[in-house]
Amino acid sequence: SKAMGRNQCSFFKEEMNARISERLILENSMRRGLAREEFYLEYQPIYALGAGRPIVGAEALLRWRHPEMGIVPPARFIPIAEDSGLILDIGEWVIREACRQSRTWTAAGLREIPVRVNLSGIQLRQKNLLDVLQRAMQDYGRKPAQIEFEVTESVLLSEVEMATGVLEALSRQGFKLAIDDFGTGYSSLSYLKRLHVDKLKVDKSFIHDISIDERGAALTRGIIGLAKSLNLRVVGEGVETAQQLAFLTANGCDEAQGFYFSVPLSAPALAEKLRDSRPS
Ligand code: C2E
Ligand code: CA
Ligand code: CA
Ligand code: CA
Repeated sequence: SKAMGRNQCSFFKEEMNARISERLILENSMRRGLAREEFYLEYQPIYALGAGRPIVGAEALLRWRHPEMGIVPPARFIPIAEDSGLILDIGEWVIREACRQSRTWTAAGLREIPVRVNLSGIQLRQKNLLDVLQRAMQDYGRKPAQIEFEVTESVLLSEVEMATGVLEALSRQGFKLAIDDFGTGYSSLSYLKRLHVDKLKVDKSFIHDISIDERGAALTRGIIGLAKSLNLRVVGEGVETAQQLAFLTANGCDEAQGFYFSVPLSAPALAEKLRDSRPS
């Protein structure tokens, strides 16, 4: 009936208003949270799948401890930070914090492993990204070999020209780069030839499907083969079982990370793991 239609309409309106105000609230509290040091990084170790299985890197993953809401997952606040542009300030904080932490580990005499930082597409478009990086590297005495970057495939696909240029500039500075969430972009693969990247990260949905059926396994095998033929290192993410690990190892995957090895860790816990891990 008409009456019901109207009710539904006002219901949706309320729902939408609620969503918009939730975004505004989150946006404002993110801004405040940045000033109040509510953000921190966790580090998930990444393992080489060769002999001894040493830790060869750590992915920096952003966390937000909100005073009332508790830990807010990045999937909930990063999209809002991207829409509002706040991701530039947050992203710069992440870069600087990763550099600071890397220096702390070096100072503690730990074996050097690169910290892998996720970059948002908004940051790639940031005019002064290279300056921001250079300043952070200088302030914390880091060399490009100590910091690596991950950019999601969807970002690379949405703006191929822009992304190609920025990745080339980063690569020229000596930074290693990975394509994150590879395989989820439903794209032609031709863009791969032109990109200055070093690694492909097989999206965890593929790793998950390895154990589901032969098609899942075949897809992952195909992605590994593709990466190899392009001379790229392949990283499997979201590895949760011994079976998935065995599959990746048998099929020539170079590196892996996931709950099977370790959840993302606090900086001291990562340092502890590194001390126990055999050098490469
Ligand atoms: P991502 O870069 O693909 O990161 C991998 C996600 O998988 C992380 O979720 C990690 O905690 C989770 N993970 C690790 N091992 C496993 C596993 O064995 N199984 C499963 N199911 N998941 C696993 P998290 O930390 O919630 O991050 C989600 C996304 O948020 C990241 O996806 C990344 O896109 C984004 N993100 C995180 N930190 C940053 C950051 O500093 N900057 C930007 N721009 N994005 C970030
Ligand atoms: Ca990542
Ligand atoms: Ca990923
Ligand atoms: Ca992802």
